[in-house]
Amino acid sequence: MRRSRWWNCRWSERGRPNRGGGGSQRVVPVWIQRLRRADWSYAGHRPRPRWKEHPLTGLRRLSENLFLFEDTCNVYVVRDGERAILVDFGTGAVLDALNEVGIETVDAVLHTHHHRDQCQGDRILNERGIPIVVPAREAGYFEDVETFWRQRQLLANYDLQSDFYTLRESVQIERQLSDYEVFHWRGLGLTALPTPGHTKGSITLIGDLDGEKVAFSGDLISAPGKIWRVHDLQWSYMATDGINAAIASLDALRRVGTDRLLPSHGAPMGRPGAAIDQLVTNLSRLFQVASYTPDPVSVPELAINQRFRQVSKHLWLSALADANFYAIVNDDGAAMLLDYGYASHDHAGDLRRFVEHSIEELKEVAGVKSIEVVIPSHYHDDHVSGIPWLQREYGAQLWAHEVFSDILENPGAYHLACLPMESMRVDRVLSNGEEFDWGGFRFQTEHAPGHTYFAAHTFVRVDGLKLALTGDNILTSMTGPRIGGPVYRNRYELDGFQRAIKRLREYEPQMLLTGHSAAISVSPEALEQPLNRARELTMAFEVLVEDEDSTGFAIDPRFVGIRPYWTRVVAGETVDLEITLRNHADEARTFVLRPDLPDSWTADPDAIEIEVAARAAVMSMLKVRVPEGQEPARRVPYCLDVTVGERRFGLEAEGLVDVLEPKTAESREN
Ligand SMILES: [Zn+2]
Ligand SMILES: [Zn+2]
Repeated sequence: MRRSRWWNCRWSERGRPNRGGGGSQRVVPVWIQRLRRADWSYAGHRPRPRWKEHPLTGLRRLSENLFLFEDTCNVYVVRDGERAILVDFGTGAVLDALNEVGIETVDAVLHTHHHRDQCQGDRILNERGIPIVVPAREAGYFEDVETFWRQRQLLANYDLQSDFYTLRESVQIERQLSDYEVFHWRGLGLTALPTPGHTKGSITLIGDLDGEKVAFSGDLISAPGKIWRVHDLQWSYMATDGINAAIASLDALRRVGTDRLLPSHGAPMGRPGAAIDQLVTNLSRLFQVASYTPDPVSVPELAINQRFRQVSKHLWLSALADANFYAIVNDDGAAMLLDYGYASHDHAGDLRRFVEHSIEELKEVAGVKSIEVVIPSHYHDDHVSGIPWLQREYGAQLWAHEVFSDILENPGAYHLACLPMESMRVDRVLSNGEEFDWGGFRFQTEHAPGHTYFAAHTFVRVDGLKLALTGDNILTSMTGPRIGGPVYRNRYELDGFQRAIKRLREYEPQMLLTGHSAAISVSPEALEQPLNRARELTMAFEVLVEDEDSTGFAIDPRFVGIRPYWTRVVAGETVDLEITLRNHADEARTFVLRPDLPDSWTADPDAIEIEVAARAAVMSMLKVRVPEGQEPARRVPYCLDVTVGERRFGLEAEGLVDVLEPKTAESREN
């Protein structure tokens, strides 16, 4: 059994704080405790969390005036007599525990970053008039979340930073802390060290407390050599940017020279230098395996009228388009296209706009008379953006593997990177492993979960050549063939590349039709290099997270998925949601989900509790009703509060609803 210390919980050693042996701590009479407890109860309509739901309450003493309260994140309490400041806040349940150590007033709550697990209870602070202090770089994620949710790129999204864990309602903040600014409170100075990595705007708060120099380090490090989530370190597509930034942040923190690290997840650490060095080593390893060095000559500089290369008698390649696409043309002049996206790399880039291209030239150079079928390698916009146009202009049929056909038809229902901007009609759904014929050629298509879980390899023999359409699973680079990832927001599975490449190797292809590196001749041995890379990647993840059991969670930003992610509903009606729960652990775990909704919205059921078997996924249904009086609004967020086993994730998942007036809905249907 591989359970971490973290999962096994350290709660048993804590319990209630020891009042007798705490030096200057006073013994508080029971009647005063009751009074204070009542005083700290939640204001307004918010249900006060029950003990049963939050078994992990109680403060743990770290030094004379420093306490830890474990919630959806670690909440640190810094005390001075009857007053305190808090670093991060979680659900707010900490307020109920403060009277245990004689604290009557909270002067401020400081945040290390904006993720919901750090601040999901902040509304209580506003209600109680407790000032909130946030990193200046992330202020918008607290005080103007409505703009964030309205404007955040969802379709064709290549901005992969983890700001989807933003609050669903704005909170009023008192103060923004600029980088290197010092927050002063009753003789204590906390310096905001910029430590980007886990988020772009994260800070570490450093100060002298009880004779020690301590660092409230947010989610920069969770244990010696470890981080609690890997996927936050990928800010842009295929990039290692956040890893690089985190390494620099760790280096800066090391040079400050602290005595103790106080992480947001994981246990406080003595010997910070050794803990940081180990993490820098582990992150550098991931950086090396995951960084992608593109081959500068893989995009040939062809003149606009020489886009096509004849690979063999019946096979044509367009290397200028982005992604590369292929045409199989039979002797009657009928064509099947494999992928069909943007006209060039610059049409992909920031533009993300399909402009008609290549087909007239294909007719000329290859004698094409009709475009009958198009088969995409995966759902990404750069591989499919031109397909609706082929359907309209040429009557082409879209045939797609079952694993991603629904994404093509309903892109807005998913929350993934690189979703197509336009939904498209799938004319034929290809089941996994299915063999099929077209134009005198025999094909087979197989699920190939690597670059994204939602991908397939298509195999066909043309002109005596065994071909495999591999999409973005294999790319060439300056160091030879390599894998197209990891990209966590594509849905990335730990062993996905290995499964896909092993199966590809069995087929013994002679040529790979790649998405961005043109057609490449391969021997079975050539696939060893990407396969080894995939294995190294898995190992790099496993040393970075606390235990093997949690690796899957650390690389899956959507282990609780909501479908449709973004939908619209008429005020007064109900949205039906499919909730997918993926358990990445080696043992069964109980998932408990509680909807966290805008005022007067209701959910049925009001909580979901399901045991999910080891390494399995289950689907559950949830109905969310939007009240009749709800004003029309674009992208109103709601959340699900998630607990897996004993691990409290907080508001881990969210979905978005466009609320329509009844009239608007009717006119849209017409
Ligand atoms: Zn976080
Ligand atoms: Zn792709």
